[in-house]
Amino acid sequence: MRPDVVVRGGTVVEAGWSGPADVVIAGGRVAALAAPGTAPPAPTVVDATGRLVMPGGVDPHCHVGFTSGDFTSLDDYRACTTAAVHGGTTTIVDFAIPRPGENPADVAYVQRAKAAEGLCDSALHACVVQWDDTVPEQLAGLVADGVPTVKMFTTYSGETMADEDTVLRTMKTLAALGGMVVIHCEADHIIGDAQQRGADAGRIGAPHMAATRPGLAETASVAEILAIAESVDAPVYFVHQSTAEAVELVAAARRRGVRAYSETVAHHLVLDDSAYRGDHPERFVCCPPLRPADQVRALGQHLFTGEVTTIGSDHCCYDTAQKESRSADVRAMPNGLPGVETRLPVIFSEYVVRRGLPVTRFVELTAANPARTNGLYPRKGTLLPGADADITIWDPSAHWRVTATALHMATDYTPYEGMHLTGRPTTVMVRGRIVIDNGTLTDPTPQGRHLKATLT
Ligand SMILES: [Zn+2]
Repeated sequence: MRPDVVVRGGTVVEAGWSGPADVVIAGGRVAALAAPGTAPPAPTVVDATGRLVMPGGVDPHCHVGFTSGDFTSLDDYRACTTAAVHGGTTTIVDFAIPRPGENPADVAYVQRAKAAEGLCDSALHACVVQWDDTVPEQLAGLVADGVPTVKMFTTYSGETMADEDTVLRTMKTLAALGGMVVIHCEADHIIGDAQQRGADAGRIGAPHMAATRPGLAETASVAEILAIAESVDAPVYFVHQSTAEAVELVAAARRRGVRAYSETVAHHLVLDDSAYRGDHPERFVCCPPLRPADQVRALGQHLFTGEVTTIGSDHCCYDTAQKESRSADVRAMPNGLPGVETRLPVIFSEYVVRRGLPVTRFVELTAANPARTNGLYPRKGTLLPGADADITIWDPSAHWRVTATALHMATDYTPYEGMHLTGRPTTVMVRGRIVIDNGTLTDPTPQGRHLKATLT
């Protein structure tokens, strides 16, 4: 096949290796990796001299237009994926979370249809809140339709919390179908008590966020869910693990043979609970909350040890007005931080540049492993021949300062405001099309596809 595009002169970075290579693209896919200077002529040649050429980022945890309580986050597929591609991410995995009275499959099919509005491809996690006799059939249908991952929560009682029996049944059913539970673990009874004590003492506003959701709640819940997974021999993926202790529980289970995976998210790896003592504590309210600085360091260390599987964003695009409107009581606040656009640059700068994380490990954590654990590999998360030509060309030495006004997320703030970063994407390709050129959106055409995932 004649190539459509050649990316020439760069250093290709994969999860396992990196080196100088030209990327030959035909029909929207990677046709070959060629020795430098040996690629055939192509109508479009992208010069990547001095740049890293990486598989586009895969964000395994991204909420698009998410309704929780009285609030709906402010983006849609078009807005969220526009921000994603500006930040070098070319695949997002969204959630279809039922409201009370809705059933998981219906909600997933509604959300799935929105993928076409995206500038890049997306996949979906379904969600089970309550067990009933129709759930097994719904899960079988979802897995067959390429939605094998199902989100569950051990917190938010009365909204999305599932009881242990529901978790066990869902895990067991999914394991037999080739699916997997992805779970938010914070023991709701411990949090409920901590919140009540905070409220009684007049310490329930945003500045007190960290104390209302202690790390012990996460530890307790992770231990319980691991025991269930081990007991029924089911795989399990823990979302947004915020403490080293939680990650270590999962790692210990993995050494016993449990198929257990740890996701971290960028804000828990970079920001700490001092943010709750600053001018805008409400802007940092997320669950689990930001942790003390020593815990952030300990968590970050596990990027190097290999115990962490993936880095997501847990993107949730609320604005300051939404956050401020209930900031006197964290129990009523919209939880979550915008981050789909900043995930890669923040982690690259803070961990690859400042702390020496190998860039191959960066690609593994932010693209290859998210694709693998979500059943999207090797179509996504790699530049090996046959993969979709989703490519992020990265200037590793660009210095820039983060400011919300220069970002593209549908909100008025970023938790990283004012941070000086090194490294950013310059050119981003989605299935062989140049979408971002020299930092500017050049192709805003919605061409997103819903990706059918298959866990192996
Ligand atoms: Zn989330």
